[in-house]
Amino acid sequence: MNPVIEQLRAAVGAAHVLTEGDLGAWEEDWRKRMRGKALAVVRPGSTAEVAAVVRACAAAGVALVPQGGNTGLVCGGVPDASGTQVVLSLQRMNAVRGLDRENLTLTVEAGCILQSVQQAAEQAGLLFPLSLAAEGSCTIGGNLATNAGGTQVVRYGNTRELCLGLEVVTAGGEVWDGLSGLRKDNTGYDLRQLFIGSEGTLGVITAATLKLFPRPAASLTAWAAVPSLEQAVRLLELAHARLGPGLTGFEVMGQFALSLVVKHFPQQRVPFASESPWGVLLENSDHESEAHARAQFEGLLEAALEQGLATDAVVAENLAQAAQLWHARESISMAQAQEGLNIKHDVSLPISRIPAFCRETDDLLAREVPGARLVNFGHLGDGNLHYNVQAPADADGPAFLREQEDRVNQLVYDQVHRFGGSISAEHGIGALKAGTLPGYKSPVALSMMRAVKQALDPGNLFNPGRVLAG
Ligand code: FAD
Repeated sequence: MNPVIEQLRAAVGAAHVLTEGDLGAWEEDWRKRMRGKALAVVRPGSTAEVAAVVRACAAAGVALVPQGGNTGLVCGGVPDASGTQVVLSLQRMNAVRGLDRENLTLTVEAGCILQSVQQAAEQAGLLFPLSLAAEGSCTIGGNLATNAGGTQVVRYGNTRELCLGLEVVTAGGEVWDGLSGLRKDNTGYDLRQLFIGSEGTLGVITAATLKLFPRPAASLTAWAAVPSLEQAVRLLELAHARLGPGLTGFEVMGQFALSLVVKHFPQQRVPFASESPWGVLLENSDHESEAHARAQFEGLLEAALEQGLATDAVVAENLAQAAQLWHARESISMAQAQEGLNIKHDVSLPISRIPAFCRETDDLLAREVPGARLVNFGHLGDGNLHYNVQAPADADGPAFLREQEDRVNQLVYDQVHRFGGSISAEHGIGALKAGTLPGYKSPVALSMMRAVKQALDPGNLFNPGRVLAG
């Protein structure tokens, strides 16, 4: 047995060092794209225990893979196949450390499930606005490590914008207490920003101080049938102008994506699915009253219909109807999985260039990969598309992926690059895109990233091969 196992047991207790039995829940990623083999899964219960684990692994030269809820979509939180890496699971560190109502901040441990963080805020009559379909199982540590986006970025920003301070265990096994609740602090480099979005390659996030917001008096949801992506972009512009900061969600869904929801989940209500090339889901959060929110929303949608930006629209009458509309949007990924294998792209572009990007790239794909079906949907308000390519209807899915994935990726990413976009909007790089990144990131940026990695993790202890390949 590797002698480090005994040290890990001494650090966290034997019950929390797993080496036998089915470790699949920690070794396999959510999409089942990668199954590794862990030397052990270690589940510390405190920051001091995390630091002890890091020191033991550093001394033994054993790599660590931090893991939260294991819902990441780029294979960044599972070990490789070597059987030499230790999974450091933060799941037991799920305490709420404190809420400061006047300062509008909440301090939680990294293993807190996102939904529990939302609930802690709600119990105090406040709002923590980060929201995504994996919120019942992803952790705030994972959200920070991937700088997750979700459905309210258009108003509140990514996880990065929602964090004021971090507690981190460094590669040297030291604890950096950066749990500041300050909104202004210009005392040199903003270190927390390095750890946010670093996907576990620079240190282990053990706790965070998060921003809270007043809860809106009412949040209303609407669905509009939209004739083209150009009109969807113009509708977004109009929604910004009419609703101001009330616009908290603006999602776009292509007709084929919605047809898959209708096909695989026929019990769901999907408005105008067969009539319109695009559906748009809007959310308006209002600090005055529901009546005010409704009047504003109706004014916006009437103007949109008059200007030909929408051909039909409906405002949800109540919370249950609003939840149904959101459920239809959030079911696209599952419907897509039911339909068969597909090639996913989580890309971002300047919003103004999205219609031209889609027009050109759709045409290119139709020529180069005949029969491929586009499942295009995403957070249009943030310029973020999930531009996914589904195998042709009669194709053998695994063969399609084997033969076409690299080609399709290159075609789509070259287009994204040409239009000034990013090959990863919100899911990160992980292991899945580490080899692709150098083709699309400037050499100057890559060399600064390597310098940061070298400075903070000179022994390549954390998540080797992730984000920066080789
Ligand atoms: P994990 O999957 O466990 O880890 C993700 C990465 O973070 C890994 O590299 C890991 O090493 C690192 N990490 C985890 N915890 C720590 C820590 N404490 N310290 C340092 N590093 C750490 N993402 C979006 O941005 N927007 C969406 O709308 C969205 N929707 C999703 C919907 C579904 C159904 C699913 C399955 C995923 C979705 N995601 C979305 C992906 C999203 O990135 C993750 O769900 C979430 O942010 C990851 O949290 P996690 O706790 O599961 O992290």
